[in-house]
Amino acid sequence: MHGGPPLRMALLEGNLVRTYHIWTVGCQMNKADSERLGRELAGLGYHETDQMGKADVIVINSCSVRQNAENRVASRLGILRALKRDKPDCLIALMGCMVGQDQGELRRRFPHVDLFLPPQAFDALLDRLSEQQDAPAVDTSRADGSAVSRFVNIMHGCDNFCTYCIVPYRRGRERSRSIDEILCEVEGLVARGAKEIVFLGQNVDSYGKTLPGKPDLADLLRETNAVPGLLRIRFLTSHPRDMSTRLIQAVADLDKVCEYINLPVQAGDDEVLKAMRRGYYVDEYRALVRRIRAAMPEVGLTTDVIVGFPGERPEQFESTRALLEELRFDAVHVAVYSPRPGTIAARMVDDVPPEEKDRRLQVVERLQQTISMERHQELVGRTMEILVERQTGGKWEGRTRGNKLAFFRFDGDCLGQLVSVRITSASAWSLQGATDETNVFQPTSVPVRNVS
Ligand code: SF4
Repeated sequence: MHGGPPLRMALLEGNLVRTYHIWTVGCQMNKADSERLGRELAGLGYHETDQMGKADVIVINSCSVRQNAENRVASRLGILRALKRDKPDCLIALMGCMVGQDQGELRRRFPHVDLFLPPQAFDALLDRLSEQQDAPAVDTSRADGSAVSRFVNIMHGCDNFCTYCIVPYRRGRERSRSIDEILCEVEGLVARGAKEIVFLGQNVDSYGKTLPGKPDLADLLRETNAVPGLLRIRFLTSHPRDMSTRLIQAVADLDKVCEYINLPVQAGDDEVLKAMRRGYYVDEYRALVRRIRAAMPEVGLTTDVIVGFPGERPEQFESTRALLEELRFDAVHVAVYSPRPGTIAARMVDDVPPEEKDRRLQVVERLQQTISMERHQELVGRTMEILVERQTGGKWEGRTRGNKLAFFRFDGDCLGQLVSVRITSASAWSLQGATDETNVFQPTSVPVRNVS
């Protein structure tokens, strides 16, 4: 872990303040990496700015899981070419999944980028900045903010090699952080105002396999559940093959662990699952969903689906559609397949025409919109526990334990508190509610159980 200069209360003259801007695309792990880098930069005395043109340090945290994400990064780097011309002292770094082992092609395409940093490997940037003796020290307690819900990466990489996925090639083999190291980060975040921690990993259900004594995610959840001041714990993303009964039980038992599971199925056909190398059959997935719902009837369950995988026949897509209709998830994240160079699937014939892929995408989106709407409507009239994360458009915004977005009006300040909210209406995307005058706040240290 990098340490910055000792904290001094800043006597900041405007022209002495050094600033950074991090632009992030891609998954929540990237977001977590950016948050961690931001904290390290704050430790070195840098202030965050949302204006890229004014920053002394610009970091583009990239993603290469989809072509669309790579295109956005390339276009952002194109804009930075002119900026670097006008402001040559500005340091530009490209970080994340686009930065593989062979960086020659990137260096040729983007010669104005000063540093290329593989995922999580931002030490080279911090070293470079630490060497600049004139970096001023500031009061980092302000620069770091105090967001209610914070991401914490508990592991890096993935060993699964699903045939369509670039992650194992770019992020490397699976490595878990120790429970002690994670708890230390969690306690630090709670001390700075966090109320909810979201543990992240490409496959969190295999957490701990690389650690001495092989602790698992259930162990980590139990230890984190005891952190004083923390109200809620979540984790992403699960893998159906690796989700154990022990983990399901821990989620059901532990009061701070929210009943919410993202369980990507990707396809509802065994042949397609095999071609994707997912390592489970549809019936096994069904049985797992049954076990989870039996242990936690109010669980918020979401899934991911890829449509138009190479060779996916119409009747195979129909099996996926039927599975989604049968299992009635709370939300489905659907993506159209696009080949990622270097993956096994990129060598398969991408034979589903683009218009057919788009049709399948729309079929899933329409179906899920109806299901989400119906599931949300079932909550109207219920009183639910909301952790308030921010204020938007005159309303307070937060989430239920099942991870549903909820909005309500309240005249006081309830940021970071657990609030009992009566749900008054619902759409496919969110809930609207009202607070009862007599029942506005629950004590923040005692989360209410058995609500979705
Ligand atoms: S589990 Fe599969 S899809 Fe997820 S990161 Fe690993 S290889 Fe990629």
